[in-house]
Amino acid sequence: MTNTSFPHADAPKRAEAVLAQLKAQFGERVSCNESVCEAHSHGEALQVSRMPAAVVFAESTADVSDVLKLCHHHQVPVVAFGAGTSVEGHVTPPEHAISLDLSRMTEVLEVNPADLDCRVQAGLTRQVLNVQLRDTGLFFPVDPGGEATLGGMCATRASGTAAVRYGTMKENVLGLTVVLANGEVIRTGGRVRKSSTGYDLTSLFVGSEGTLGIITEVQLRLHGIPEQLSAAICQFENLHDAVSTAIEIIQMGVPIARVELMDEVQMAASISYSGLTDLQPLTTLFFEFAGAPESVREQVSVTEDIARENNGLRFMWADTADERARLWKARHNAFWAAKAIDPSARVISTDCIVPISRLADLIDGVRQDIAASGLQAAILGHVGDGNFHTLIMTEDSDAGHARALDLDRKIVARALAMGGSCSGEHGVGLGKLEFLETEHGAGALSVMRALKATLDPLNILNPGKLLPEGPVFKG
Ligand SMILES: Cc1cc2nc3c(=O)[nH]c(=O)nc-3n(C[C@H](O)[C@H](O)[C@H](O)COP(=O)(O)OP(=O)(O)OC[C@H]3O[C@@H](n4cnc5c(N)ncnc54)[C@H](O)[C@@H]3O)c2cc1C
Repeated sequence: MTNTSFPHADAPKRAEAVLAQLKAQFGERVSCNESVCEAHSHGEALQVSRMPAAVVFAESTADVSDVLKLCHHHQVPVVAFGAGTSVEGHVTPPEHAISLDLSRMTEVLEVNPADLDCRVQAGLTRQVLNVQLRDTGLFFPVDPGGEATLGGMCATRASGTAAVRYGTMKENVLGLTVVLANGEVIRTGGRVRKSSTGYDLTSLFVGSEGTLGIITEVQLRLHGIPEQLSAAICQFENLHDAVSTAIEIIQMGVPIARVELMDEVQMAASISYSGLTDLQPLTTLFFEFAGAPESVREQVSVTEDIARENNGLRFMWADTADERARLWKARHNAFWAAKAIDPSARVISTDCIVPISRLADLIDGVRQDIAASGLQAAILGHVGDGNFHTLIMTEDSDAGHARALDLDRKIVARALAMGGSCSGEHGVGLGKLEFLETEHGAGALSVMRALKATLDPLNILNPGKLLPEGPVFKG
């Protein structure tokens, strides 16, 4: 495979040529303003920050196509930018790159209640989509913590607290409109629930982190709002008991809507940050049950039995919509709560996932690793999927970062040894590059590189992300 690195010397000149033409075509929708570029120079949480040459605000598929045609012609890199909530350095531009912001593409293009699907522009957030769907009795369930765009969520194959019941973006995207590196527009998939024709290009682009094409429209599966929703929490003196409870709930086949864990470090932070003053700083499971009343009663009864057998303390119920919203908001704000423990600290989040039967072993091992590291860390996560985060807090210095990364690597090594993955939902970006070969093997990685070289032979789409040691942009 050829290495298509850009010629180094004239990269600034090529970016300038592109910029002049972009300004002529897009006017004020091209910005070199320092604060706009700064906001597009990094994502959340991690990693390097680098200013783009300019930010272009797209409003249509045609805009995206025009930008890519131009950048392809001049070999200028392009980084798609949704809401910038990704946490692994995904949106940090290489030098002399265009950050292509899709957040103004927010139209709901069609809603088909009879078929439980809809088509939206990629810059729409899932929160706004759900507000717009309110009168249809339908909703879109994938709920990462940040105010992410649906295009960004496709690109990172995102999930969230409801994945245990409804699946991730992988299961909830039916089709896409994608602009390829050379500006060509293609549609993948469609509206049907299954099809056995051709390669599954939709799945190829879902999770491709803006490295194979830029998604401009998404056909989504929708779900009926359940007849009844009930949320509860149960606290535990012992983390292992809480994890065992979650595992047994899944193994028993309880169709639980959400089961989320926060350990005592995270709970102490969230009690203070989110005002959960009625709770103790003890390991806690957050549950949501959904369905017809009879089904909910049965799910609750089995779950309470399992929790009791694992030494759970009493169940506390959140029956009103407001109380439920308060609990889930506290869960979604967990990262910010941990950050508030010491606002000057750096917080690094792991994202391991293992087959559910190995989860308790992994978390026990992670606890030992945290203790040995001398660092403070909170454990929380989507334990019903076998996925959890360790929020490692460290001083904001190179030495502190190195200690946190050392702990991160130990945790990932444990997960991989148990047949797991280094990332259940956040993706690779820059932060997880080093683990890809161990996780997938050299053969699979070389197939991924061949796909990248075919779809983006000049390597202009988010170069340097997702694939380690692939064609590296050196502009
Ligand atoms: C507090 C907090 C909690 C979080 N919780 C979760 C969670 O529970 N689950 C989870 O999965 N993630 C979570 N995340 C991570 C993040 O929200 C997701 O990765 C999200 O999917 C990113 O969407 P975005 O619109 O912000 O994308 P961005 O950050 O803008 O972009 C992410 C990647 O996708 C590419 N991209 C963006 N838009 C497009 C497009 N239209 N076409 C092609 N490529 C594109 C970018 O180039 C980049 O590589 C959390 C983040 C934070 C800060």
